[in-house]
Amino acid sequence: MPSVAFYTLGCKVNFYDTEAIWQLFKNEGYEQVDFEEPADVYLINTCTVTNTGDKKSRQMIRRAVRRNPEAIVAVTGCYAQTSPGEILDIPGVDLVIGNQDRDQIMTHVNHIQQSRQPVNAVRNIMKTREFEELEVPGFADRTRAFLKIQDGCNNFCTFCIIPWSRGLSRSRDPQSIVKQAHQMVEAGYQEFVLTGIHTGGYGDDLDNYRLSDLLWELDKVDGLERVRISSIEASQIDDRLLEVLGSSSKMCRHLHIPLQAGHNDVLKAMRRKYTTEEYFTKMEMIRKAMPDVGITTDVIVGFPGETDDMFRAGYDFMKAVNYSEMHVFPYSKRTGTPAARMTNQIDEEIKNARVQELIDLSEEMQLAYAKRFVGQTLSVIAERSAKDAPGRDVQHGFTDNYLQVFFGGDDSLQGQLCQVKITEAGVNECRGELVRVGGGSLQPSAR
Ligand code: SF4
Repeated sequence: MPSVAFYTLGCKVNFYDTEAIWQLFKNEGYEQVDFEEPADVYLINTCTVTNTGDKKSRQMIRRAVRRNPEAIVAVTGCYAQTSPGEILDIPGVDLVIGNQDRDQIMTHVNHIQQSRQPVNAVRNIMKTREFEELEVPGFADRTRAFLKIQDGCNNFCTFCIIPWSRGLSRSRDPQSIVKQAHQMVEAGYQEFVLTGIHTGGYGDDLDNYRLSDLLWELDKVDGLERVRISSIEASQIDDRLLEVLGSSSKMCRHLHIPLQAGHNDVLKAMRRKYTTEEYFTKMEMIRKAMPDVGITTDVIVGFPGETDDMFRAGYDFMKAVNYSEMHVFPYSKRTGTPAARMTNQIDEEIKNARVQELIDLSEEMQLAYAKRFVGQTLSVIAERSAKDAPGRDVQHGFTDNYLQVFFGGDDSLQGQLCQVKITEAGVNECRGELVRVGGGSLQPSAR
């Protein structure tokens, strides 16, 4: 039996795409082996969100070539889409294919096995208008199912290369999503994480069909307990979305809403689609619709031109929003983006000091948010065991409002929805006691 090994870098969408590509190999009788082992074919799904992403991708490609010089080395993903020439210059690379036409991968692999001639199958993705439909009946190592519903982005934020690697926003056919949802419930998944490059842009290219319409359709899927939106822009939160968030008992009380910066001048330089005032108003509307919601965010610190005053104002703004957690990143230049050509770059030391301040603030807010749920019983999907003492079985999982919880129980609980009483709050680690196994409304008082 021929063997294939995968290495995936980057975001949830890349991991979803790798699962889809594995199905293509599986259908042709391949077995999957670990990337550290010898294989007949290696597939590296690359990331290009930062220059480091490119560097790490090249390292993994070279590692595959060294591991088995006879193997076919195939490269896909965002770095492949933006820089096929650089990748083909690496000795031993056989196939470079971008973020589309993956249904052709087996044809290329079979052809290269004969010809042993390298193939550049990358096509311009900026003209692509169709969502690439690829089968994913399940996930090898996941207890929560990722559903890819959208690809590409129309926003062109000045620090981001993604629109050039993923193309413009394309939505998946709603019926194909609902069909996969039923398949996933049959396969035992109880939570779906809706993912995309610009998830909130779902429906931009559909006729009078929005993300909210899709959420109502998923709300009707029997056996599905939780729906989580992986990320959504503040500018995409409208009344229709607030209505389904406020009334469907399956919507997780967790929204990841990137802020990126807390000052209007920086937001303008980033070409973000909202002001701090508009963003704050949306947070208030969400909290009205979903009182206990956990709001998490992404923040880029030290964007070119960010003065100390702007940073201070941003700090106060984030404190006022009162997030349940912030993912804080120092701005890093991405070659080929407008921001990388900006002159007023910030000194690394200043950037790192600001990052630390925001991480401290995030931990403060995270602990305060978790403390609100001590004594409450929340639903948790056990994901993996986390032994903390010999012989003491402990499971780890996430509540619907994205608290990380450790609670006593054996591995038979994995993948199951459990009702857990929160006994102790912590940063990235709350403690709880198992009350019972099984569903139950996500909200203390069913809405
Ligand atoms: S919204 Fe901005 S940051 Fe996000 S993928 Fe699109 S261009 Fe990049």
